[in-house]
Amino acid sequence: MKSIPSYFGEMVFDDRVMRERLPKDIYKTLKKTIERGKALDMSIANVVASAMKDWAIERGATHYTHWFQPMTGITAEKHESFISPNADGSIIMEFSGKELIRGESDASSFPSGGWGAPFEARGYTAWDPTSFAFVKDDTLYIPTAFCSYGGQVLDKKTPLLRSMEVINREALRILHLFGETDVRRVNTTVGAEQEYFLVDKGLYEKRRDLQFTGRTLFGAKPPKGQELEDHYYGSLKDRVVAYMKELDEELWRLGVLAKTEHGEVAPGQYELAPIFTTTNLASDHNQLMMELMKKIAGRHGLTCLLHEKPFAGVNGSGKHNNWSLATDKGENLLNPGDSPEENARFLIFFCAVIQAVDDYQDLIRITAASASNDHRLGASEAPPAIVSMFVGDDLAAVLDSIADGTPYSGCAAQRMQIGVNVLPQFPKDNTDRNRTSPFAFTGNKFEFRMLGSTFSISGPNIILNTIIADALSGFADELEKADDFKTALNALIKRTIIEHRRIIFNGNSYSEEWALEAEARGLLNLKTTPDALPYFVSQKNIDLFVRHGIFTEEELRSRCDILMENYCKTICIEAQTMLEMSYREIMPAICAYMKELADTAGSKKTLGAALSCRLEETLLQKLSNLSDCLCDKTAALDDALLKAKAFGEGEKAAHFYCDFVCTAMQELRAVADELEIVMGNKYWPFPTYGELLFSV
Ligand code: ADP
Ligand code: MG
Repeated sequence: MKSIPSYFGEMVFDDRVMRERLPKDIYKTLKKTIERGKALDMSIANVVASAMKDWAIERGATHYTHWFQPMTGITAEKHESFISPNADGSIIMEFSGKELIRGESDASSFPSGGWGAPFEARGYTAWDPTSFAFVKDDTLYIPTAFCSYGGQVLDKKTPLLRSMEVINREALRILHLFGETDVRRVNTTVGAEQEYFLVDKGLYEKRRDLQFTGRTLFGAKPPKGQELEDHYYGSLKDRVVAYMKELDEELWRLGVLAKTEHGEVAPGQYELAPIFTTTNLASDHNQLMMELMKKIAGRHGLTCLLHEKPFAGVNGSGKHNNWSLATDKGENLLNPGDSPEENARFLIFFCAVIQAVDDYQDLIRITAASASNDHRLGASEAPPAIVSMFVGDDLAAVLDSIADGTPYSGCAAQRMQIGVNVLPQFPKDNTDRNRTSPFAFTGNKFEFRMLGSTFSISGPNIILNTIIADALSGFADELEKADDFKTALNALIKRTIIEHRRIIFNGNSYSEEWALEAEARGLLNLKTTPDALPYFVSQKNIDLFVRHGIFTEEELRSRCDILMENYCKTICIEAQTMLEMSYREIMPAICAYMKELADTAGSKKTLGAALSCRLEETLLQKLSNLSDCLCDKTAALDDALLKAKAFGEGEKAAHFYCDFVCTAMQELRAVADELEIVMGNKYWPFPTYGELLFSV
């Protein structure tokens, strides 16, 4: 067996390979492009392309593809082979700098939010040299950005890269004020913990709802669910162990730092966490992770469900986005450090996050908004829709002491003086006791916990980078003008804490009291996706994105439209699937069972009056009542869906889907679930929760 270090990253055209395979001067120029965003010369691109092709062919590649992240939230690719004909009928394997740098793609079938009549819907992909190319499935994958010819951004990668540049620029301004002029680059780092379910593939294939919508739309509660909590960190079944082993190995080959795996709270639920890395790579890696999770499951007779809420009544799946800032010297700027200077620097970056999260609660909420994640948020298993920040009691006491100018009790009645005193210790594990907070400081990073398991992490990180960069930018403006840096810094930190500490909450975010208190504090509570999305294009938010060159107003509006459309489409597909299952599967099943019961009763009656038909008659009565109800609720859903469709796919439609179609779906489900319990096992047309959840 090969050792892990010997094959880790063997399919990645990473820095190691570039240094080894490229002529020294070419390598240096390429590095400059990567580090400083310089334009790449075509003669250099040609050399890089040729080296890349040879390397890829050695690893079995026959094709290459530009790999991009359109607004669908998943990745897209279009494969081209390397072959090029010679005059004599033979071929050579070719790959030019032009092909590496730029690809054409018909953008008309990707969501663009109403841009581009088909005739102008050409798009192109452009190589992003800051993300590594890799070989997968005999194909060289080239990470790219995706734009229209008009220059409008059509993907999630471009704004992510822009937001990383903006936060780099603003963080450097702050660091330079601290005299740290030798720092040349500040990167955001991300580790995305991914939750998922595994179910038996054979059972999955018998459920149209899982196939079409990724979640069960019907299903009565099994006698046993997650109440015993025996699955959390429980020992893993052989089939799951084999699956995880293969998944780890494939991810390692692709340079993904897969690290921690364990059973989650719900039966059949698991988590995989990688070691954190630079945000754009983390985003590529999370996409690869989700894709391979699904693909490899099939080889083990399993299906991987990434949906946020595959099963009602048991925990759903989320994604935790751990976020921090690191300098090119490897220093974590959210590490409080040991000296007064490090503490002061920590506090200014920390305050930028507090201000950003408070000022842009709406945007943070929107990064976690989707039809599927609405089932999770606020359902006593994931944070509520109210955005707040957990900082831990110790750090909160420090912040209060700074803001109020009162002595910090844990610190021998000392007044905190920033840049003079050393912050009292707040142990890391102490800060992570609260798992209910949407946005928790966990010692040296923030953990954003509202995201759904299917989400691309690009979206939330574009927002986090931009809003925190914006706060840093305001801070830098103020501090650069100050006559005395230390005094100004103290005043700024104190003022920021006072103005924004309403966003800090260390208690139980799942409680009802918190919802009331949050309201009293004036915090937003945007319960559903249609409630939240319109905030995306408020003037304050348009100004923010335009100010930092992340999105134009037009781009922002189109993104908002895409999200709203997506919400409507998702619920529409779910409603249609429910109707189909009701009419074509559940109703015939009930009829068959009722016929069997009626036939049995009839036969008994012809045999003689002494035979009781109580069982058949009782069941028939019950089934008959419930099936009347099923009939009405199905018709009601049919009707609601028809009305919803008439509204189109905008904000009005979204509210209608949310208020009426979802309610009709829940009511239909309730009756069907009651029927499931009284129906004969062999008559029920699809696998039950008990079978699905305990199938692996
Ligand atoms: P837990 O949340 O279970 O306590 P850890 O604290 O080790 O686990 O980290 C959880 C995730 O946070 C991992 O993916 C880890 O790599 C990531 N992480 C740790 N430090 C940072 C950092 N500085 N920046 C971004 N992510 C980080
Ligand atoms: Mg976590």
